[in-house]
Amino acid sequence: MFPIIDFHVHVYPALPLSSELKKVRSSLKSVLEPVSQLQHNAQSLIRKFPQFSRKFLEEITTPSVIPHLLIESQFDDLITEMNTHNVEKAVVIPHPPIISNDFVYYECRKAPNRLITSTFIDPQTMTKKEDLVAFYNQGVRIFKINPIQSGVPAEAPYYNDFLEYLNSKKAIVILHTGNIYSHLFKAPDKGDVKNFIPWFTRYPDIKFLLAHMNFNEPHRAIEQASLYENVFLLTSWQPTDVIEKAINKVGVSKILFASDWPLLGGNILTQKNRILQLFKNKKISEQDLKNIFAENAKHLLA
Ligand SMILES: [Zn+2]
Repeated sequence: MFPIIDFHVHVYPALPLSSELKKVRSSLKSVLEPVSQLQHNAQSLIRKFPQFSRKFLEEITTPSVIPHLLIESQFDDLITEMNTHNVEKAVVIPHPPIISNDFVYYECRKAPNRLITSTFIDPQTMTKKEDLVAFYNQGVRIFKINPIQSGVPAEAPYYNDFLEYLNSKKAIVILHTGNIYSHLFKAPDKGDVKNFIPWFTRYPDIKFLLAHMNFNEPHRAIEQASLYENVFLLTSWQPTDVIEKAINKVGVSKILFASDWPLLGGNILTQKNRILQLFKNKKISEQDLKNIFAENAKHLLA
């Protein structure tokens, strides 16, 4: 009933599926649904384990996203999912080399009223400021930095020119926050929010959106959003109790809906229900709910 703007989704390139698999694809989706729910619940429990076992659990569970991607991960799947859950618009995020910047730009142009392009600051394909300016000149206003994926840590001088430029343009930068201990990533331990702290004052005109609220250690992301005016929190991967704590500490106006669809399957519904729960339990008002779902995002995108 309440419209949503989702600040974090992915679209994957078409998979080379056999015609048989294509036929069973939609029926597999309902088969995997309960599995998805279990995984979403398990994911928010991993943080409760001691650090050494958590690393092991993340290593073995991260590849479990793959079966979901076979079933639901492409442009048509996303639009269907958005229509089902009343998502008006979604910010599509590249994940090079699997999901390139050019691919995302092209996909978003297929539904310009629904999908918003973002560009990944990717050391493999972006070596100088002009490479980024080219995307800005094509209308991109949202940029993503993810050191665990790119392998280039926040303290590297590589980012300086790009961030100077984006600061002068008052752009939005989404930061992946949180270490994820999996060999699928180049630098699993370079994701903690503490690495980005110098940027929050050095680039005061950039709006920094902390994706995943530092994942398994959200208290540090919440702390940063409470200290800096230009730091906001995205809800993806966080359970209801953490979102409630974040609201209480930083205020509703800094919390934005994000699902990270399609990583475990059913991400949009899961994240939507987690926030609706706060409204149903009278922890937040109807206006708060509207703000988290869409109004705060509209404000940032205006
Ligand atoms: Zn993501």
